[in-house]
Amino acid sequence: MKTRTCQRTARLMYAVGLLIALAAGTQTAAVTSAAPHSTIVFQATGDARFINTSADANFPDAMNFHLEVDSGTPIETVELYWRAAESPQLSAAYPEIEPNTSVQVDHEVDLSVNYLPPSLDIVYFWRVIDSAGGVSESPEETLFYMDESQDWKMLTEGPVTFYWFDGNDAFAQDVVGTANRTITRLGNRFGISGDEPIRIVAYGDDDAFSDGLPPNSAEWVGGQAYPGLNVIFAVLEPGRGAEEETRRMIPHEVSHLLLEQATENPFNSPPNWLDEGLAVYNQETEDFRFDDLLDDAVDDGRLTPVRALNSSFPLDDEAALLSYAESASIVTYIIEELGDSEMRELIAIFRDEVSYDAAVEGELGMTIEELDAGWQAWLGYEGDAPVVIDTDNQVDVDPADDNDLSRTDWIVTSVIFGIGTAIALGFTIFAFRRWRKIGKAMSEY
Ligand SMILES: [Zn+2]
Repeated sequence: MKTRTCQRTARLMYAVGLLIALAAGTQTAAVTSAAPHSTIVFQATGDARFINTSADANFPDAMNFHLEVDSGTPIETVELYWRAAESPQLSAAYPEIEPNTSVQVDHEVDLSVNYLPPSLDIVYFWRVIDSAGGVSESPEETLFYMDESQDWKMLTEGPVTFYWFDGNDAFAQDVVGTANRTITRLGNRFGISGDEPIRIVAYGDDDAFSDGLPPNSAEWVGGQAYPGLNVIFAVLEPGRGAEEETRRMIPHEVSHLLLEQATENPFNSPPNWLDEGLAVYNQETEDFRFDDLLDDAVDDGRLTPVRALNSSFPLDDEAALLSYAESASIVTYIIEELGDSEMRELIAIFRDEVSYDAAVEGELGMTIEELDAGWQAWLGYEGDAPVVIDTDNQVDVDPADDNDLSRTDWIVTSVIFGIGTAIALGFTIFAFRRWRKIGKAMSEY
């Protein structure tokens, strides 16, 4: 499930989180989401005085929170609550203290496991409970969680804010302009109105970028998009080729962020062929490999059915690339043969928590199998090639392959790096490859 964004208050989250934490009998951590459309008004019953509540970022490893608080009645419990401003998911920590009328706490939230991307606004507050049961809360404050090792420049235009440190203003203008162009295009043509701000963080330095990735990230990772947090985090080097790469990567990733915004609901997200297909369709720099891959698959009778592209793409390099090419082709087919309006309605219906079958039938007036048949006919596909069983190679299991990164490193969508917060909070993460690499495995999405 993807993280869904909403504007509910942290205190509402807190109240629900606390209920769940108490119900679970835990005093370790609570990560939960709020019940919708209810209102809980917090009323302080304690007399604590918050003297210092501050925080700082130690990207990508930790956030440090500092508390100094006094109370007429000894404080027995302190609780820290935080969330990404874009997310309704609240996290909690319960640092141990010695009961006292004056309490100081330094609490580190370890993010080396619970990774978060840079440029997030982290909203936090403290809650203290005294020995008479009185409860006090500090005002909400915001920590800008950013990589402090770089001298960031910032450019905001419309809903897009770009952070970079290497490159001139024209480079930044191109990134921001490309993102805004994408937003306008998606809105005008397909009714995808992204009204939430997005942030793009670009590293011009490969090593610095690698240092900012979650631990144990694959070497090929050239960026990550976090639709639930509206953040794109990538290596993007200014200079020769920058414009081409900007116009490939930015429209693709912005499309993921906006589709999430346009279709967010608690139960499902659009099928992968639609999400990735629209993202590729949006690119202003085409991927030169896709036409050949698709043509070969048509000629060889090995197209993947639409239904099989609903969920995650294969791990195998070439099969994954073909999945992107096919997804873009399906989206192109719908747009060219049925029109922008049909695509607009298909996208819109996913906000209504419908199944993939119901969405396609309801908006395109055909079953997924009929969509498949229409798309295949449009491509001039003459049917699947007969399956040939090669008895000599039927069992081709080489244990060494299990460690062969080239077979499994392709990825693709919904890869979760750094198990922890991302999984706990249900973020969907798109990892994409560096654009220029030697060999066949080049870019990713
Ligand atoms: Zn993608």
